[in-house]
Amino acid sequence: MVMSEKKSISIVVPMYNEEAVFHTLFRVLEETLSKLDVTYEVICVDDGSRDKTRELLLAKTQQDPRVKAVLLSRNFGKEAAMTAAIDYATGDAVIPIDADLQDPPELIGQMIEKWREGFDVVYAKRVSRMSDTPMKRNTAGLFYRIFNMLSEIPIPENVGDYRLMDRRVVDAIKRLPEKDRFMKGLFCWPGFNNTSIEFERPERLEGETKFNYWKLWNFALNGITSFSSFPVRLGVYLGLIVSAVAFIYGVVIMVKTLFTGVDVPGYASLMIVVLFMGGIQLFFLGLLGEYIGRIYKEVKNRPIYMVDKALGFDGKSV
Ligand code: UDP
Ligand code: MG
Repeated sequence: MVMSEKKSISIVVPMYNEEAVFHTLFRVLEETLSKLDVTYEVICVDDGSRDKTRELLLAKTQQDPRVKAVLLSRNFGKEAAMTAAIDYATGDAVIPIDADLQDPPELIGQMIEKWREGFDVVYAKRVSRMSDTPMKRNTAGLFYRIFNMLSEIPIPENVGDYRLMDRRVVDAIKRLPEKDRFMKGLFCWPGFNNTSIEFERPERLEGETKFNYWKLWNFALNGITSFSSFPVRLGVYLGLIVSAVAFIYGVVIMVKTLFTGVDVPGYASLMIVVLFMGGIQLFFLGLLGEYIGRIYKEVKNRPIYMVDKALGFDGKSV
């Protein structure tokens, strides 16, 4: 490998109403990146912000050629924004980072070191989640456990989207066409050589979180159904078990009727069976619906995001 040529990295930042942290983010990024022996670009994707983020980005891209911005036509969600950012990134390595400085840019140096040692993916692993509420910590832990039990492709625990990915990993991810984008899973799909560095995750610097529990619950469901069809298969097993039990019970009733005659009481057991079966059937109908909905979404084949304007990319028209 020719070592004389400087490597380039792309920092990609999804932004949704991030005017409060904007200037601090760029100050910290510039401070950290200028010390490193690489060239860089910062690709910001404005995910339909309603505050001053767009104006700030417009000014920033005019003043610094290393900063580029993709303005989406509305709010598409963080996963779509990151997909857009990755599509526009040109670096030898790509690092997605949150705008709120919860992913400390100071780690980028260490990530690059590991990358130079030959790792294709360097995760930034949170050693503790003390900055999260106990509720979020517990539900997140449970999510990782269930996800990794069900999914064929495990995802590392307590790793957000903050990581370094080599160009070949990024190119592999770009070939994954699904519309429902659970990035944490997609980022892991290509595999390759990986390692992790650890850090203490600080609290959001300014502004407030864009994710409430309902959003997180849907995010988790999306993740699991994107990477596992086990929930539907569960229906087959439960169905089998229930039918087997019903068959045995049927034999018991038949034998009992033959020997002791017709027995009128039985309302309780009947109700239990009817309700139980009805419940199971509704549950799995819902689950099937979930997967059919996903198939419908894929079949419609709508674009993952819509770009309103792309700023700072010379030669690339919108
Ligand atoms: N974000 C986005 N689109 C959204 C919601 C969030 O681009 O619809 C961005 C947000 O600007 C931030 C990152 O995703 O850069 C993480 O969001 P946040 O800090 O609110 O999430 P948390 O850290 O609370 O999980
Ligand atoms: Mg945050």
